[in-house]
Amino acid sequence: MSAIDTLPPLRAVIASHGLSARKALGQNFLLDLNLTAKIARVAGDLAGSDVLEVGPGPGGLTRGLLAEGARRVVAVEKDARCLPALAEIAEAYPGRLEVIHGDALDLDWAAHLTPPIRIVANLPYNVGTELLVRWLTPPVWPPRWSTMTLMFQREVAERIVATPGSKAYGRLAILAQWRSTARIAMTLPPEAFTPPPKVRSAVVHLEALDAPRYPADPQVLSRIVAAAFNQRRKMLRAALKAQAPDIEDRLRAAGIDPTARAEEISLEAFCALARELA
Ligand code: SAM
Repeated sequence: MSAIDTLPPLRAVIASHGLSARKALGQNFLLDLNLTAKIARVAGDLAGSDVLEVGPGPGGLTRGLLAEGARRVVAVEKDARCLPALAEIAEAYPGRLEVIHGDALDLDWAAHLTPPIRIVANLPYNVGTELLVRWLTPPVWPPRWSTMTLMFQREVAERIVATPGSKAYGRLAILAQWRSTARIAMTLPPEAFTPPPKVRSAVVHLEALDAPRYPADPQVLSRIVAAAFNQRRKMLRAALKAQAPDIEDRLRAAGIDPTARAEEISLEAFCALARELA
């Protein structure tokens, strides 16, 4: 019996349901229920929140979220083999777990949850960044989620929280930090997972701000940041040449040295440039 509920230990669940990990689905499972409860606690006070979980797998994190008091958990899993194990969890927590069999990339998730909504997931690494970018760029802000607590490869986590001047600083840092606060809450060695991945992992916690830190049009900001970092070794006057015929003047008007490179430019300055180019 585990420390957090009366369901069988996860190794037994995996054995009884034949859940051998599949690499193509990014399956690296967390089997330590103390660890999954700890991740659930990073998400904050779950009692008054609905939680979206992507990729529950055998349900270790799901069990942590429910044991930590989540009002409701909606868990989206692509692998049908996991459904019977998840059904057992739903039975142990009546009315609090809805399992959706499908691809998180195709799901209109907000329709299944009531705010406040927290997203908590040990993400499959092959779709993690794509999902994060979608969650960070909804059609309207504030988004439907209030916090996100997400496991990534450590290198991706570092890109999310990176500051100017570092190698990891780029599009992901700007996207994440423009309209939310982002911090690395935990780092995990490969051995925390079954099977262990090749790389270290980290849990990033993001909280949505009510309004962007600095005004800017999302599309313009996204376009210039993509262009600037696509050629991050070039001076901005060259990397952004296609953005405006008088790009040097626009850069100067935004307080940016046209010979600077993207990785030296603060979020505030990128927003100023987006306003100049809007
Ligand atoms: N949450 C479990 C844990 O912590 O042990 C499993 C995490 S494992 C890293 C990722 C999970 O995401 C797997 O169960 C996998 O089947 C599922 N998955 C992969 N791609 C998916 C997708 N596009 N939509 C939904 N689930 C997906």
